[in-house]
Amino acid sequence: MEKFIKMQFNADLKNVLFSRAIVASFFIDEKVSLNVINEVKTIVSEAVTNAIVHGYNSDNTKEVTLNMFLYDNTLIIEVIDKGVGIEDLNKAKEPLFSTRLSEERAGLGFTIMEIFSDEMEIDTKVNEGTKLRIKKFI
Ligand code: ATP
Ligand code: MG
Repeated sequence: MEKFIKMQFNADLKNVLFSRAIVASFFIDEKVSLNVINEVKTIVSEAVTNAIVHGYNSDNTKEVTLNMFLYDNTLIIEVIDKGVGIEDLNKAKEPLFSTRLSEERAGLGFTIMEIFSDEMEIDTKVNEGTKLRIKKFI
């Protein structure tokens, strides 16, 4: 293990920006291209947004976990919420599927995360929450 961070923050959409800044800081002394850093920022901000908006219905007293582990040339990203969980995961992962289309959500978050990652694992249970684990070679 070269390095890792483990953090929690409250489920406020303002913290999406914060999570992007965390990604930038995490890579500040690494030889990683800006392009890859931007992909990681996108993955993290999509995942954190989902945890806040869907997992917690924007209840800003709730807690989101963001972990990042870097070893060799592999990055593991974990985003965890203890919120509502996902009823039908296959449906949720379909491009353009959203339970909040009326709120201008495109239903593209999972699709984008999948494109930018090498592996995407989702553990979810209704009323218990969702854990997203993404592997990305950098
Ligand atoms: P967009 O990401 O384009 O703004 P979206 O968030 O609806 O739209 P996805 O990120 O692909 O689209 O997620 C698809 C659906 O999966 C969501 O509409 C929501 O129903 C469900 N979902 C995603 N993440 C979570 C989560 N952490 N907790 C509960 N449900 C989730
Ligand atoms: Mg989304």
